This record gives sequence, structure tokens and C-alpha cells, in this order.
Amino acid sequence: MNNSFFEIAQILKENKYFILFSHISADADSFGSCAALWHSLTLADKEAVILLEDNLAENLKFLGKGVKVFQYDSKEGEAFIKEAEKNGGYVSICVDCASVDRFPKREELFWNGKYTVCLDHHLTSKHICDYNYIEPSASATGEILYKLIKSTKMPLDKNVGEAIFAAITTDTGNFQYSNTNKESHLIAAELYDLGVDFNKVSIEIYERSSLAALKLQAMVLSALEIFNNGRCCISFVSQDMLKETGANMDDSEGLVSKLRSIDGVEVSILLREHENNKIKGSLRSKSDADVAKIAQSFGGGGHKKAAGFTLNTSIEEALKRVSEEVIKSI
Ligand code: 5GP
Ligand code: MN
Repeated sequence: MNNSFFEIAQILKENKYFILFSHISADADSFGSCAALWHSLTLADKEAVILLEDNLAENLKFLGKGVKVFQYDSKEGEAFIKEAEKNGGYVSICVDCASVDRFPKREELFWNGKYTVCLDHHLTSKHICDYNYIEPSASATGEILYKLIKSTKMPLDKNVGEAIFAAITTDTGNFQYSNTNKESHLIAAELYDLGVDFNKVSIEIYERSSLAALKLQAMVLSALEIFNNGRCCISFVSQDMLKETGANMDDSEGLVSKLRSIDGVEVSILLREHENNKIKGSLRSKSDADVAKIAQSFGGGGHKKAAGFTLNTSIEEALKRVSEEVIKSI
């Protein structure tokens, strides 16, 4: 069962130190929601940090400007933890995720919090924390953050607003996906009153592709296979492709949604080789197919129309296994 915003706000008000956890390979919803909460907490005179265990994507770095974002095992990160512990401990808040396999290296740090809080919108998420607010009908975790901050009268300013907008615009595919609802538009409209520069945020997120990223896209398209009578398509990004194009893995963000836009395709799949035998799979569906179920069959999760998982196999093996599972499930 969810806690109320009031109960969660009490925890925020009664404590001084907070560690915010976005999921690995943070997207703009996870990191933007953390940044929004960081700004609001800081305006409320709280001490907060966002601790990561991997690098932030280039196009999200603007959201971290002026924010205390550190690697969990950095000098700054460790100093914060020490200070918090000297002063009675910290509250751990996981944002846009609800299982420790989404922040594996920070698991111990997370559970060491004197309270744990989860703010999330994934269908497959479980209530694992002391305080939870998981709302699958929210278009983005950013939407939940906005409502929490607004309804409990926590501080709101332009920085909070821009981070919330980044979260909502990306998780709704720029207000296009079926998770977009009246609320997403209403929140965006209210953000105007905070002075949010929508055009700046959109350019930062969508219009700073490198040439290498476009070359990588071309390679992914040449490797694309369409199957199941044109209803499914699958492609991959290998480490070799990254070397050849000079792109990095973040440059493939959003590609799986582009693959879904092919006429007639119901399910698109992109497999990304993060290391040898470590494949991150992304699934998207257009209308009826439930890709969260498919992702769950591989130990992952997500939403009905956008989900992911990790497989410890070769790309060839993953291409075969995932294609077979998708054909079986749709
Ligand atoms: P993406 O394909 O963009 O990485 O993820 C699509 C959606 O599925 C996101 O909402 C993401 O948080 C979720 N997701 C991706 N990978 C995993 C995973 O391994 N486990 C779970 N539970 N969710 C995932
Ligand atoms: Mn999200």
C-alpha cells in the first residue's frame, strides 16, 4: 500500500540528511526527479546529495549543474555519509526504481539509511521501503515529484521546474506516448509560472546529437531484422560498433522507440552490449503487447509499453532467445 504524500513529507520535514538514488544508466526521469527533489530539499535547508554508481549521460549533465552529484565511493560521497552519520543518519530515497538490482553497488548504502523511501511509477515495482509511493498511472516519476512537492508546500523554483519538465518530456516521448495524460499537460502548463525555459531543456535533451551518434544509428538500422510478419523488429549495439563509430552507449538512448515507429511494427527490441556477455535489453510496444511481461520473463521489468532486462549471454544468443520469447508472447 502507498503512503500518503503527507506521511512522506513528514519524513522529509523531520530529517536533515538525504541520499537520493537514481537507477543505473539514469534517464531524464530518474535523474531529473532526483535533481528536482534535491533542489526542493536544499531550498528547505536540508542537506542532500545524489549518489551515482555510473556516469551520467552527456545530455543530462545540465540537470546536475549546481547540484551535489557524486559517485557513491568518491571522497565527497564518503564525506557526506560520514557527516550524516555523525548527525543521526540519513534518509535513503530511491527514485524511478524500486529494486536493489537497479542500484546494485549502492545497495548497502541504501539500506543503511535510517528510513528508506521509494518514489516510482513502474507497474512491476514492489513496495520494498519503509515509505512508498508507486503510481503506475503517472506518466513519469517527475509527475509524482511535482505533486508531492506542490501538495505538501515544499519549495518550488525554476530549477525544480526544469528538472520536472525534463523528466516528463522524456518519459512521455515529448507528450506523444499513450502514458501522456491530462495531468502531464497540466503540470507542464503550471511550470510556465516558475519561469521554466522549455526550449532550453528540449535543446539540451534532444538536439545535441554527435555525428558519431548518427553513425551509430545508421549501423543499428543496417543490423535491423524484421520478423513475425513485420510485427516485430530487433537490432543491437555491440562494443565493436561503438569503437567503429566513436559513439558511446548513451548515444543509443531513444533508438528503440524510433524502431517502434516503423509502420506495422508492434514490438521493437534493442539489445545493447555493455560488456562482454552483459546485454541490456530494451523493449517497446505500440498498442496491445505487454512488454513488461516479456521483460519479467528475463528477470527485468518496467511498463506495459516500455520495459527492460539484463542477460548474461552473448549478443547472438540474446538475439535468438529474445526473438523467440517475443514471438511466443504476442
Ligand atoms: P529502457 O529500455 O529505456 O532502459 O527502460 C524502459 C523502462 O523499463 C524504464 O522505465 C526502465 O526503468 C525499465 N527497466 C529497464 N530495465 C529494467 C530492469 O532491468 N529491471 C526493471 N525492473 N526495470 C527496467
Ligand atoms: Mn520513469
